[in-house]
Amino acid sequence: MATSYAEATDSEALFIGAHSEDFSGYPDCRPAFFDAFQNVIDVGTKPETEIELKAPFVEWSKTEIAERGLELDVPYEMTWSCYRDEEPACGTCDACAFRLEAFRNAGSRDPIEYAERPEFS
Ligand SMILES: [Zn+2]
Repeated sequence: MATSYAEATDSEALFIGAHSEDFSGYPDCRPAFFDAFQNVIDVGTKPETEIELKAPFVEWSKTEIAERGLELDVPYEMTWSCYRDEEPACGTCDACAFRLEAFRNAGSRDPIEYAERPEFS
């Protein structure tokens, strides 16, 4: 869908926020997948279309991403990682656990509300 949208809007790039800690559970978060998907984009769009697939955090840990976001004053209160589709975030799924751990490792507190927040976070 993103590729079609990018092509229809003459976009030059698609970005995905996958990171290295996703590799184990999600094969489609590996660099090899993005290399293969770039080929899909190249073959599956018009010859004159040039869309680059970018995964800028693919080699970063979630802690590194949290730290960089804190440096940039990212409004983390407006972000979401939970697999749950309603507020508050659960605090216990893998995405919540990684996120809470990243904030803890970065020496900060995640500003979003959680249904369950481990004591250490
Ligand atoms: Zn969750």
